[in-house]
Amino acid sequence: MTPSQFREEGKKMIDWIADYYEGIENMPVLSQVKPGEIKNRLPGSAPQQGETMEQMIDDVNKIIMPGITHWQSPDFYAYFPSNNSFPSILGDLLSSGLGVQGMIWATSPACTELETRVMDWLVDMLGLPGKFKSTSMGGGVIQDTASSSALTAIVAAREKTTAFKSNENGVAGKLVAYVSTQTHSSLEKAAKIAGIGKNNLRAIDVDGNFAMKPDALKAQIEKDKKDGFTPFFVCATIGTTSSNAVDPIEEIGKICEEGNYWLHIDAAMSGTAMLCPEFRHHQKGVELADSYCFNPHKWMFTNFDCDCFWVADRNHLINTFSILPEYLKNKATESGAVFDYRDWHIQLGRRFRSLKLWFVIRHYGVEGLQFHVREHVRLARDFARWVDESTDFDLVVEPLFNLVCFSHKAGDTFNIKLMDTVNRTGEIYFTHTRLNGKVVLRMSIGQSNTNEKHLQKAWKLILTKARELILRR
Ligand SMILES: *Cc1c(COP(=O)(O)O)cnc(C)c1O
Repeated sequence: MTPSQFREEGKKMIDWIADYYEGIENMPVLSQVKPGEIKNRLPGSAPQQGETMEQMIDDVNKIIMPGITHWQSPDFYAYFPSNNSFPSILGDLLSSGLGVQGMIWATSPACTELETRVMDWLVDMLGLPGKFKSTSMGGGVIQDTASSSALTAIVAAREKTTAFKSNENGVAGKLVAYVSTQTHSSLEKAAKIAGIGKNNLRAIDVDGNFAMKPDALKAQIEKDKKDGFTPFFVCATIGTTSSNAVDPIEEIGKICEEGNYWLHIDAAMSGTAMLCPEFRHHQKGVELADSYCFNPHKWMFTNFDCDCFWVADRNHLINTFSILPEYLKNKATESGAVFDYRDWHIQLGRRFRSLKLWFVIRHYGVEGLQFHVREHVRLARDFARWVDESTDFDLVVEPLFNLVCFSHKAGDTFNIKLMDTVNRTGEIYFTHTRLNGKVVLRMSIGQSNTNEKHLQKAWKLILTKARELILRR
């Protein structure tokens, strides 16, 4: 493909994407295909001769689109959002166009330095402690996901605790890490991969609001110490996945400070709320954290993948993850004057992801981002009020941010049936969880274009389907 053909095809692709967004509300949010359906419509082997862009787009329309669940639909309320915006898409396109692999500073200084600058901006934007800035001892780095941030944090904590020997000698089976029963499953995965072992990960009990009980944490740590274990890592969450609960950061932080345990804060979803000062009381004590992460690719209008991860002391990361084979040696690295982000995470190669984040922040401005976050929170409160005022549904937890957990009074089986019935209409898509053993429906309101009209439609649909199902019983 020549540059002039690319110019032509590229414009058509932009048109295709713009058309997609204009028509997205006419498509069933949840893909209605059956397992294997898409695969079976694709040829079993690759084409011997090259094909045209037209043929490819034709197949996208006919074969691929029916198998798409429309995450960018304003009627998408499932899981957590993975929202998006046009400035972000354009930034990502530019990153593809430049095709930079930014593993070390020398492989594209702008890739490293823009990322450092944007990550420093975000420290101020989210009200995070100054120690996370590159101008201090810390610094931020973009990771693919919160799962990778958790793994990076736990490995760095492991190294720090073993005086930087676990990389050499492996891990003795005595290190123990702490999460709550509500912590995201990625922490269990991280504990397994990091060689800590699932049996050395303690799930601490939560209170009535699904937040970790600091007293229970303290008691478990005391018990473990008595039993000869070495506590080393605690993960606290701001906005758990099931119910958006917030762990008491300050109390947990003090326990960590006293014992010199690494405190990682997982704010993957709800960290975005910290753009607005009125939510920052939820992260009181954040200055006690050793590391913190949130996902702009969830709620901050930045397309997947983009997780922001900060540490209070970058030397812990660098001492843990540094590798310097001969073929990567260079003057800039040796001078110590630059960051080589390959030493800040698991993988070597890295995309120029800060471009899309930079585009998003500059397009909206801090006030624009705050506006949209507040709108989503306002919508969630409206929805919660409708649930509360209804006779058939219960509000399970008062929403702190933009997630509403509710259930129909008719019980677990009914709730699942209701959810499946509503989702099968293709009008909206929402999902469930379990809290205290009971099925709970979740409306996660964070799609970039969701407004009051969409939410009213959703509530009306849920009410209608619930009544139909009750009558049919
Ligand atoms: C979504 C989520 C994760 C995992 O996110 P990935 O970026 O997909 O790894 C972890 N923790 C919390 C609290 C989340 O909401």
